[in-house]
Amino acid sequence: MKPFTHTAAALVLLMMTPGCVSHSNPPATAAAPVAAAHPSFDADRAFGFLKSQCDLGPRPPHSAAHEKCKDYILQQLTPYVDKVDTQIFPYRDSTRGVRLSLTNIIGVINPHAKRKIVLFTHWDTRPTADNELDEPNKKKPIVGADDGASGTAVLLELARQFHDKKPDIGVVLLFVDGEDWGPGEDKMYLGARYFAKHPGDYKPDYAILLDMIGDNHLEVHREITSEKLHPELNNKVWKAAGDLGYRAQFPDDTKWEITDDHDSFNAAGIPAVDLIDFDYAYWHTLGDTPEHCSPESLKVTGEVVSRVVYGEK
Ligand SMILES: [Zn+2]
Repeated sequence: MKPFTHTAAALVLLMMTPGCVSHSNPPATAAAPVAAAHPSFDADRAFGFLKSQCDLGPRPPHSAAHEKCKDYILQQLTPYVDKVDTQIFPYRDSTRGVRLSLTNIIGVINPHAKRKIVLFTHWDTRPTADNELDEPNKKKPIVGADDGASGTAVLLELARQFHDKKPDIGVVLLFVDGEDWGPGEDKMYLGARYFAKHPGDYKPDYAILLDMIGDNHLEVHREITSEKLHPELNNKVWKAAGDLGYRAQFPDDTKWEITDDHDSFNAAGIPAVDLIDFDYAYWHTLGDTPEHCSPESLKVTGEVVSRVVYGEK
């Protein structure tokens, strides 16, 4: 993603661009859970997904690690969803002289439900560490613990939750590719643009984007474009956060205007809001690594989103 610059002075700041386990029942001897409204989000399991992605190294399109990560996501997702699908599409980058094969990964819960929502994130990582100070480092690819792995980790853990207790609506878990290819915005958001043009049966009532939500000092403010276009969707999210006692991590105000994958959805008539913590010092640097993210932050975002989903009929 990328921050929208209102004026030169106003935002020198930047911008942003953005697992399963066999399901086992609790032992019969275990004390009955206290009537939990829904299964709890497993922070450690989610963080394991984040680390496993980062263990593959940087995962930009046109790399072996990108291919491995695609397989990993499919492997972790498949046991927990009712349907898995992919959208595979090419992208020719004439500047770099490469032809990319990009893949949007789709997992669906309750595919026949009348109402459905899309939860989405990008799974690719930036091929260049643009915000490094040294020229040689700028050319290196980033690991993308926050920018790529964090949203993916949350969606993979949500798949398990929604498998263990089905929501009343259809949920499309969408992992888009090619968000951070770049370097310019003309070559970004590739998977989201593709999906927005070809949603097919997966066209939702609305969509929620998760991007850079793993920062170990989590602060997700209402993103300005999302708030202008769909305050009612943001209201659902920030009410859920308040109900859960997460007001510190989801301050109820606006801060950043971010160009991101949600813009392609909104342009195509699919209402979408962006949940993003853009106050992250390691954005597009070699320091975007797991130690700057936390299981708790993944859990906060995961619980907020799942509360929104379980609240829908
Ligand atoms: Zn990025």
